[in-house]
Formats: sequence, C-alpha cells, structure tokens
Amino acid sequence: MKKKAVFLDRDGTVIIDKIYLNDPSQIDYLPGVFEALRQLQEAGFIFVIVTNQSGVARGIVQIENIEKIHEIISRDFAQHGVHFAGFYYAPYSVESNHPMRKPNPGMLEAGAKEHGIDLSQSWMIGDRMTDVEAGLRAGTKTVLLAGHEVPPEGTPRGPDFIAHGLMEAAQWILKSRG
Ligand SMILES: [Mg+2]
Repeated sequence: MKKKAVFLDRDGTVIIDKIYLNDPSQIDYLPGVFEALRQLQEAGFIFVIVTNQSGVARGIVQIENIEKIHEIISRDFAQHGVHFAGFYYAPYSVESNHPMRKPNPGMLEAGAKEHGIDLSQSWMIGDRMTDVEAGLRAGTKTVLLAGHEVPPEGTPRGPDFIAHGLMEAAQWILKSRG
C-alpha cells in the first residue's frame, strides 16, 4: 500500500526564512511546527522536505552546509518523535527552469518514487505560490501559508486552503481526511 505524505517547503514553512541560510547555527523554527507534524504523523502521514536553494548556484550557499542544516532539522524533530522520510533540495538558479526546481514538480515526483507515496493522497505546504504550483503539477492537494503571497484574483488553480502557520495547516488536513 502506498503511503500518504506531506511535502513541506523549508524556509518560511518549517524554519524562519533567513534568505540564503548557510550557517547551521542560524536555524530558527517557526511556532507550532513540532506539534503540527507530530499530529500529522499520528494520522499516518510521512514527511518530505522540498526546498529550492538557488543560493548554491549564486555561490553564497554551500552544499555541505545545506546537508548539515538538514541533519540538524532531522535531529531536532526526532527529539519530538517526528521522523522525516527525505530531504530534497534544488541547487539550481532561478533562471534555470530545472525540472527539480519548484514550481516544477521534480522533487515531489522523486520523493514519491523513492518512498512509495501516493501523490493524490498527499499534500504540499509552502509559503509561496511556487510551492502551491509544484504541488498542483505533482497532483497533491495544497496549502499556502499566509504572509508573503496571495493567489492572484480569479486564478483557476489556487491552494485548497490558506493557513496561518503549520499548526493551522495541519488542523485543516486532519479535518479534511477521508
Ligand atoms: Mg518558502
């Protein structure tokens, strides 16, 4: 049986967006993230982080620091009993339109293949419309975290829900199951 997942953007969704975070000591979590994922995990969801890291292409973020940052995030959530199935990052430039860079769905599709995930039973949560678009292209349901962006007026393909933070997103997902 295929698994259901919540795909999560990283910066501005799980941790505070420091804009080209490169220093593992600068990780700061957004409110409610541990409890939100704990509840979703209890409901049977697995978690995959999908993060654009164009700072690598710009030469201001180092791959080894991204991996260290993901190691720390993984360890900190494990202390709250929450396990991540995978971390995917797209180190490509904004202009590349690389299939792995959101809004393209490559990271979600790779995650689904590697972890046996049913995309139609899964969700993408992020604070940018590019996150929502990546989810829509991959075939997941989507939640936009309010703050930075609102869907353009009359857009035919918007998020299923707009939440204020990961906890509210989790409550919506749990409520709309089945
Ligand atoms: Mg973000």
